Amino acid sequence: MTKTIRPLLAGNWKMNGTRASLDQIKAIADGVKAPLSEKIDTLLCPPATLLYVATALCDDSPLAIGAQDCHQQVSGAYTGDISAEMIADCFGTHVIVGHSERRRNHAESDMLVRAKAQAAHDAGLIAIICIGETAYERNSGQTLDVLKRELIGSVPDGATAATTVIAYEPVWAIGTGVVPTSEDVEEAHAFMRAELIERFGKEGANMRILYGGSVSGANARSLLDIPHVNGVLVGGQSLKAVDFLAIYAAFERQFA
Ligand code: PEP
Repeated sequence: MTKTIRPLLAGNWKMNGTRASLDQIKAIADGVKAPLSEKIDTLLCPPATLLYVATALCDDSPLAIGAQDCHQQVSGAYTGDISAEMIADCFGTHVIVGHSERRRNHAESDMLVRAKAQAAHDAGLIAIICIGETAYERNSGQTLDVLKRELIGSVPDGATAATTVIAYEPVWAIGTGVVPTSEDVEEAHAFMRAELIERFGKEGANMRILYGGSVSGANARSLLDIPHVNGVLVGGQSLKAVDFLAIYAAFERQFA
């Protein structure tokens, strides 16, 4: 299947990385090179403490730097939080919102995730909105209902293909080494594409839908071959340049 949507490879460092890890960011920035970098977008989301220095390190690289979460307000008495505006001020270009770890550990609702995505848009950032079912929801046949509910609840009305990326991350596949079958990924992505087209028309047809959950250099190629998979969101395998760049190399087949 020929894919016309420009893909995105995104890495999420979660709560990992200190200044000692900056050499990994530099190695990734140096490894994301033409000609492949002219055809795909690459992004790394280190912890907020490294954001500003990471964007400076990537000045001469196509590697974009983003954050892992933002507050829904621009500023105020929200101890410990960072706003989308602050991310943009550090030259971050993207922010992940609604990651399942935030939904679970911080009780984030679809309504809150939507407000965060809206705040990202208002600050000029691209919002990567994560959705996905738990093992219980999958085993009880609720996967598509969950995806529909989270898409409706978490994606702001004004979302466009330029401002919004959807990341499908089955919660049970995150950090477990377990990946859904190609058929299951295909079904989920086709379903989300149809839902996005119904709500956003042409914008929905062009919105990137990433797969996330135990992606590695070994499985990236086959995941990227699945229709409506427009890139991947990578956790553990984004921490070391060698692993992340192996996934980057896997994108070549899409353009061979
Ligand atoms: C994630 O947390 O977004 C993720 C996809 O993690 P991992 O690749 O480690 O499963």
